[in-house]
Amino acid sequence: MKVIEVYVEHPVYEINQTFSYYCDFEVQVGMRVLVPFNHTELVGLVHAIHDASEASSDYDLKSVIRVIDEEILLNDEIRKLAKYMESTTIAPYMACVQAMLPTILKPKTSTNSAKMERVVTIISEKMAFTPKEQRCVDYIKSKDVCFYSDARKEFGNTVRQLVVKGAASEYLVEAKTKVGKDYADYQEPELSDEQKACINKIENNHGYRPYLLYGVTGAGKTEVYLQLAKQVIERGQSVIILVPEIGLTPQMVARVKGRFHDLVAIYHSKLNNQEKYSEYMRIKRGEVKVVVGTRSAIFMPFDNLGLIIVDEEHDKSYKQDSTPRYHARDIALWRGQYHNCPVVMASATPSFESYARASKNVYELLTLTKRINVRMPEIHLVNMKNELRRSNPYLLSKDLKTAMNEALSNGEQVILLFNRRGYAPQMECKSCHKVIKCPHCDISLSYHKEEKVVKCHYCDYVTPFISTCPVCGSNEGFNFGGVGIQKLEEELNRDFKDYKVLRMDRDTTARKDGHEAIIEAFGRHEADILIGTQMIAKGLDFPNVTVVGIVNADQGMNRPDFRSIEDTFGFLSQASGRSGRSSKQGKVFIQTYDEEHYMFNYLKKNDYHGFFVREMKFRHVGNYPPYCYMAAITTSDSSKEKAQNLAYAIHEYLLNKHIDGKVYNVTEETKVQDTYRYRILIKVKNNDMLEGILKDIVDEFKVKQKVRVKLYIDNNPLTV
Ligand code: ADP
Ligand code: ZN
Ligand code: ZN
Repeated sequence: MKVIEVYVEHPVYEINQTFSYYCDFEVQVGMRVLVPFNHTELVGLVHAIHDASEASSDYDLKSVIRVIDEEILLNDEIRKLAKYMESTTIAPYMACVQAMLPTILKPKTSTNSAKMERVVTIISEKMAFTPKEQRCVDYIKSKDVCFYSDARKEFGNTVRQLVVKGAASEYLVEAKTKVGKDYADYQEPELSDEQKACINKIENNHGYRPYLLYGVTGAGKTEVYLQLAKQVIERGQSVIILVPEIGLTPQMVARVKGRFHDLVAIYHSKLNNQEKYSEYMRIKRGEVKVVVGTRSAIFMPFDNLGLIIVDEEHDKSYKQDSTPRYHARDIALWRGQYHNCPVVMASATPSFESYARASKNVYELLTLTKRINVRMPEIHLVNMKNELRRSNPYLLSKDLKTAMNEALSNGEQVILLFNRRGYAPQMECKSCHKVIKCPHCDISLSYHKEEKVVKCHYCDYVTPFISTCPVCGSNEGFNFGGVGIQKLEEELNRDFKDYKVLRMDRDTTARKDGHEAIIEAFGRHEADILIGTQMIAKGLDFPNVTVVGIVNADQGMNRPDFRSIEDTFGFLSQASGRSGRSSKQGKVFIQTYDEEHYMFNYLKKNDYHGFFVREMKFRHVGNYPPYCYMAAITTSDSSKEKAQNLAYAIHEYLLNKHIDGKVYNVTEETKVQDTYRYRILIKVKNNDMLEGILKDIVDEFKVKQKVRVKLYIDNNPLTV
């Protein structure tokens, strides 16, 4: 008899502990078991196994009902990683485990199971067959694996008759799911000297080492990844390549698949459960050597990693915004250490956290300073105040239009960025002057002219546009405030009639392959002008684009967040980097009302380093990260009072602790989806101390006081 310790399914703070059970079955640590719990049955994960005689049990233990897995689901690495995540993100152990597995494998009581398919085989031919039966037998025998449904399509009921007769037998196999398509070969170019130098440095240094590859846009970073990956695969090891949002980087998938074909798995949030499961299992079985994927691909179960790449490492999509709030870059570093292999974080605009570490030699800095083919694009600032003086009421300045016309008439293409969806972000009733808000959020509804609807951009509430005011019932109509991208599209269709415009935003890419379809169409020059929200700023490589316009550069700069200028600099550099990537000189037009802002000087000179030094002075004076560690604690409830009360209780608790750092006042956040939220920010000098404080909060309010109101912890939040 054994006594086993298991974590149970509930991913809640209140029961973040193990429970003991007797177990008569063969079982190993890392397997799932079904256990009785209160008056129900839960799935548990075996965490430790003891001999019953050793285990001191003061009370009667219940027994395990059955063991679910035949093989170990969570190996030693995954269990250690979950422990690391638990302590750094202050999330329950089971929530960390859940985050690492595809839905079908998650330890949950609800029935998640892999899709199965029926297969038939011939087991005996020692009997008389009709001619049709004989043909069916031959058909089944001619296939390696014969799916029942295929045979049925050809021979109808005859298949069943063969089974009844005892000639054929049927069984279930896991359905094979093909994810993504095949891509044409992606040829290897002659490497540039800079690329070679980078690759040599990393290759000559086996073992764990974090690198920051700082390379200007268009410097050929992808080729560096591919060459390194090739060496690793030849050594028999595997590679993880993380990309921001896969829909946004189909070109990366095309390149990696075009180089390594069937050795590549794809893993991202738009795959369905079956597809994720299938790719996960291909990796677990060792059938593939490379995965290209978004955030959660960092957990893919390779047992012999030789390299991890984090492309566009500054990208915010690497941080999960639900429990556990982990950053994929941290997981990459942890796994790199575990597998003793290099971790390459790359960007044209590294996060300050990473660049600061590289400046202190915590990471090794590698640089690609030159574009492969041509010079960096020319950057022109357009002062929009002057446009207003010139009484140009339109979204596009004269300079930008002139440049667009010139490029378009040469057969070149143009990209315009405008970071707001819909037609108008605000509707004000002409009679009662109320701004129309989402019924569930404290946010004004946006008018989408094209679809004739109004939408909430926070909760996705949609309702048909009607001319009656929902507040006062008047029929006088609305004043539309502000502009959205659909209005820009309207302006282009009027002023650039001879050219075709494609729009890429959340509304036009809702379908699964929506992004890819638009990107490929633009790549084939089926349109001349691509307009889009920030989703088109990153990663795309269209050699024929020579003009990029940023219609409203100021939008992000005014956000009350200490990172707003860093983020805007990154966004503008990335967006500019889409221009002039081939043999022709690129131009970028940045339209702003704030031309004097110091950030633009650095941007024009393409001087990331100078910008970093300047901005870090401000961080130092204000004592912001990376000079300190920050965390956000959020309470949330459908009752305003409850959410507020818990926030104030936590605030008082923190003040009484007299921590060496700063506790900000409680702030009320925007109501979203009928949920009220309150937030407290804290910052301290030392990370271990911060983790300790966060853990204390959970212990005090969730474990000891058992407060029911939701409590979210975000250690190192990326937006404040
Ligand atoms: P980024 O550094 O912005 O990710 P890419 O990897 O997209 O840049 O490379 C920019 C372009 O240069 C791509 O079209 C790529 O195919 C091409 N390229 C990369 N390396 C070389 C090379 N050594 N010789 C010629 N072209 C190259
Ligand atoms: Zn009204
Ligand atoms: Zn809403």
